[in-house]
Amino acid sequence: MFFDENNKRYNLFSVYLKKKYNTKVYKVTLDAGFSCPNRDGTLSSKGCIFCDESGSFSQAHSNLLDIETQLEVGIDTLKKRFKACKFLSYFQAYSNTYKPYNELKLLYDKALKPEDVIGLSIGTRPDCVDDNKLDLIASYSENKEVWLEFGLQSIHDKTLKLINRGHNYDCFLKSYSKAKERNINVCVHIILGLMNETYDDMILTAKTLSDLSIDGIKIHMLCILKDSPLEKIYKQNKFKLLSDDEYASLVCDILEILPSHTTIHRMAGNGLNKLLIEPKWIQKKFETLNKIDRILKERNTYQGFYFR
Ligand code: SF4
Repeated sequence: MFFDENNKRYNLFSVYLKKKYNTKVYKVTLDAGFSCPNRDGTLSSKGCIFCDESGSFSQAHSNLLDIETQLEVGIDTLKKRFKACKFLSYFQAYSNTYKPYNELKLLYDKALKPEDVIGLSIGTRPDCVDDNKLDLIASYSENKEVWLEFGLQSIHDKTLKLINRGHNYDCFLKSYSKAKERNINVCVHIILGLMNETYDDMILTAKTLSDLSIDGIKIHMLCILKDSPLEKIYKQNKFKLLSDDEYASLVCDILEILPSHTTIHRMAGNGLNKLLIEPKWIQKKFETLNKIDRILKERNTYQGFYFR
């Protein structure tokens, strides 16, 4: 079963957007100066052990230009480079619902203002949303493409504690249910290769999310980043990281049990992170993606193959 004209055996988010809007949609990543309760001392000041100072922001730092300017620069660059004509405003850095309601509304309104912006994607923690904020996000869904991205990483509380997430699985489940009651599209982030997790633990995370019938998923490999708490832990005790082959095979196992409608937002690193210590192989994004394609072809399976 193929999901697009390139014979991909999984349901890429980019393809879902292209089919819906009749053109490729480009994400403009934004840094709106949010913080995170796991870094500002509210829950902890250390952050998740894998988090670097940028709070998972993939671009060069924005120097906190205002949202209008960030969008203008981002859109202009994408138009020139790719002849892009549709965009999704992506609030990526830190926890992008961690401000009072009125400030959020102002920011989201600004992010939706340019006429070529078709919607919003908002990355956050499950403990940083409440009914009012979810109502606000849902209010945009009527006319716009709206996605809420929850960092979960694992369904196992022992792991969440170990990586200092500051919330448990139940917290995710409650926020997830409230978002779904409001028909908000939810993309869930998970990390593979967390140091205490077995193969069965990781598969159980994927199986549980599959049972929830999630709308989207981002699959990450655990990375050791310079100046993250994990760097120190790793240097003291070099625990085993997944190899590229192990990771690619595991991603295929996960794709096979996810429902076919779940959109795949990411399953290989962006390879640009200057802070990366290990594993170096994640810098070869296309090699990882090719491996995943090859394994699914050899198995003659596809996303949803084992979904029940
Ligand atoms: S929730 Fe996100 S921004 Fe906050 S510490 Fe964890 S990874 Fe970093």
